[in-house]
Amino acid sequence: MRQIEIKLRSRAKINIGLDVTGVRDDGYHLVRMIMQSVDLCDDVTIRADREAVFCDKSGKDIRITCDRPGIPCDERNLAWKAASLLMDETGIGEPVTIDIVKRIPVAAGLAGGSGNAAAVLLGMNELFNLGLSGEDLCKIGLRIGADVPYCLTGKTMLAEGIGEVLTPLKDLPKCHILLAKPDMDVSTAHVYGELDRKKDLRHPDIDAILEAVEGSDLKRICAHMGNILEEVTEKEHGVITEIKKSMKKNGALNALMSGSGPTVFGIFEDIKKAEKAYDAIKKEDLAKQVFITAPI
Ligand code: ATP
Repeated sequence: MRQIEIKLRSRAKINIGLDVTGVRDDGYHLVRMIMQSVDLCDDVTIRADREAVFCDKSGKDIRITCDRPGIPCDERNLAWKAASLLMDETGIGEPVTIDIVKRIPVAAGLAGGSGNAAAVLLGMNELFNLGLSGEDLCKIGLRIGADVPYCLTGKTMLAEGIGEVLTPLKDLPKCHILLAKPDMDVSTAHVYGELDRKKDLRHPDIDAILEAVEGSDLKRICAHMGNILEEVTEKEHGVITEIKKSMKKNGALNALMSGSGPTVFGIFEDIKKAEKAYDAIKKEDLAKQVFITAPI
């Protein structure tokens, strides 16, 4: 019997390094990013709903449900965009329902939406036996967002170009990762816009991080971690500095903002220290959404 449902984990990512090296003529930013997926995830369930008819205003039978209030469940949802693009590319017209259970904080710099879109591309490809290659899915994913190609595979990866030139790296050495998302949303477009206006930026040394990853040297990786977008988001939101300080005071090897923020992550060798830092952030009320997770 034909498979009618598939369930995928859509994992959050952090940026161990993030540099912006230029802007293309079409406005896209050129980046060099060291990406790492973590085991914090959303659940994405895709169902082929042959009986259903819920044709929306686009004329497509795509239904999204999400347990997190405030996330649009229409064509603004990145999971919807992924399903719609796959339908355009392959001509499948079967009604599809996508149920999203959210654990990843939203508008947080953790690629929550991009991960959901990647899960839909992978899931529908399998569910409907579309036979698209990884390269095909990357091309479609890039039309949704720069992080989507990376989210198709996850793990430790160098992302260059506008995010689509991917080079797999050695796994990160074993460690614990504390994530803390302060109570505000950050617009990625705003952060990149402000970055373009700034001069004399301090660029992180991505090559030094790459060498340290190659040598499986966690302390050196942590010593060189850097994110150029902190120059915008951290300056606008002092709580990011406070969270970084709190994590380091409680034993993090280092702490950094992920993506365009505002989530901060700390890297710990010792789980007890990560737990102590978790308690401190909660006690000081620096963030409500706090998670201890690990690279995966
Ligand atoms: P990235 O690191 O890829 O920029 P992010 O963590 O900064 O991602 P998202 O969690 O993807 O940001 O959310 C950004 C915006 O996208 C939010 O305003 C949200 O309403 C919208 N959005 C659309 N689809 C989704 C989805 N499936 N999950 C979460 N947010 C979504």
